Amino acid sequence: MSPLWRPAYVAIGSNLNHPQERVSEAYERIAALRATRLELRSRLYHTRPLGPQDQPYFVNAAAGLLTQLSAHDLLEALLGVERAMGRHRQERWGPRVIDLDLVWMVGAVIEEAHLTVPHPGVSSRNFVLYPLADIAPTLEIPGHGFVADLKVRSGGDGISVLG
Ligand code: ADP
Ligand code: MG
Repeated sequence: MSPLWRPAYVAIGSNLNHPQERVSEAYERIAALRATRLELRSRLYHTRPLGPQDQPYFVNAAAGLLTQLSAHDLLEALLGVERAMGRHRQERWGPRVIDLDLVWMVGAVIEEAHLTVPHPGVSSRNFVLYPLADIAPTLEIPGHGFVADLKVRSGGDGISVLG
């Protein structure tokens, strides 16, 4: 019997090597993952970086998926996309060609060394919440609240819609 298709949301960010194109590439690579369908794409946002300010603004977006993968296998697949796109892990909150974070997956509450779901930064990061609210405003993130409310609470500081 094949596993159930389950919804999941992924936050996408880039601030190196033509970020807008990198986000589009990430959407295509996510769409091509095994046992996974890309169902929804948010608008693209231009956002002020978290942490060190001596780096370019980011382009952020969010993807809505249906997947048969477990949260662990989906994370592995997303980290594989990061590697394939030339991501080298360096400075915390530093510049990156692509960042893919598993924000939420139905039924998944995980607190392990290498995987926390829902993603702990979600309720405080407007660059995650603005794109996520495009595709999932009524989503309730366990332990955090509804995406539309969290978005309003996070404020629009340093955020603008691209294009
Ligand atoms: P950040 O996205 O916080 O800037 P990184 O992209 O460098 O950090 O990720 C570091 C590690 O975070 C990954 O290797 C992964 O194991 C871990 N991690 C834990 N929970 C998640 C999650 N929900 N989504 C993505 N990565 C996660
Ligand atoms: Mg990450």
